[in-house]
Amino acid sequence: MRLNVKNVAFKYASTPVLEDICMEVAPSEVISICGPNGAGKSTLLRCINRILEPTKGSILLDGLEIRSMSMSETARHIGYVPQANSNVFPLTVFDMVLMGRRPHLGWRGSDVDIEKVVEVLRLMKLEDLAMRDHNELSGGQRQKVLIARALAQEPEVLLLDEPTSNLDIKHQLEVMEIVRGLVAKKKISVIMAVHDLNLASRYSDKVILMMNGRVVNAGRGVLTPENIRKVYEVEVEVINNNAGGPYIVPIKRVGPTSYKIRGRS
Ligand code: ADP
Repeated sequence: MRLNVKNVAFKYASTPVLEDICMEVAPSEVISICGPNGAGKSTLLRCINRILEPTKGSILLDGLEIRSMSMSETARHIGYVPQANSNVFPLTVFDMVLMGRRPHLGWRGSDVDIEKVVEVLRLMKLEDLAMRDHNELSGGQRQKVLIARALAQEPEVLLLDEPTSNLDIKHQLEVMEIVRGLVAKKKISVIMAVHDLNLASRYSDKVILMMNGRVVNAGRGVLTPENIRKVYEVEVEVINNNAGGPYIVPIKRVGPTSYKIRGRS
């Protein structure tokens, strides 16, 4: 499925947060949205998932305006993993993941739905936690459960808001490899907001750099020292290696509030 975001703008009350956002995501593509805190990454994902309605512009799935679809039709195409995961009521991991089947369910779940949940729990290596209360898990385990719930939904477009923020480095790589594996196998598209530029560099096909609610750079090879400096006010070194995309090493802050790290020029 091809997703097009055309000239999207969004305001919270009267404060503009997104301006003239355009992007296109093809099947089997992983796009990372990077940019400093407050750039508008989460807001953009929430507009694509229809939690928020853009004040201008359009979002199309295979040429069809998503706002012309019912919410459950949208949910059959687009899965969303939010950043925060505060849960209010006790629920087993199994039931939590089963909730992801909601857009497909009739008035009761079928064997197919149960099989899907089992398959996803296995994929995410969560079988041992299936009967545990979701509230009792670590932040990282919960993050994997939320991803599992979105995968159970079998979306064609998967939106991930900081999917690895609670994960240790081993689980960061594991989750990213699962995502890439799904993209290869099921030809889904993934749009993820990520802080870690090295994960973005290694696991995405294209990067969108945002600042102040606008797209500043988009495409392959945009994680250059110049672009990163402009957006983050940080000087970095970009090192090409053989283990995936180039590796980004922060050197120092620049700009009006920069200070010298002792011992460095
Ligand atoms: P990012 O994900 O890039 O950190 P966000 O999309 O969360 O950025 O936020 C973009 C801007 O919108 C920020 O200035 C933030 O303060 C503002 N914002 C986010 N959520 C709300 C809200 N519910 N009400 C008002 N302003 C908000």
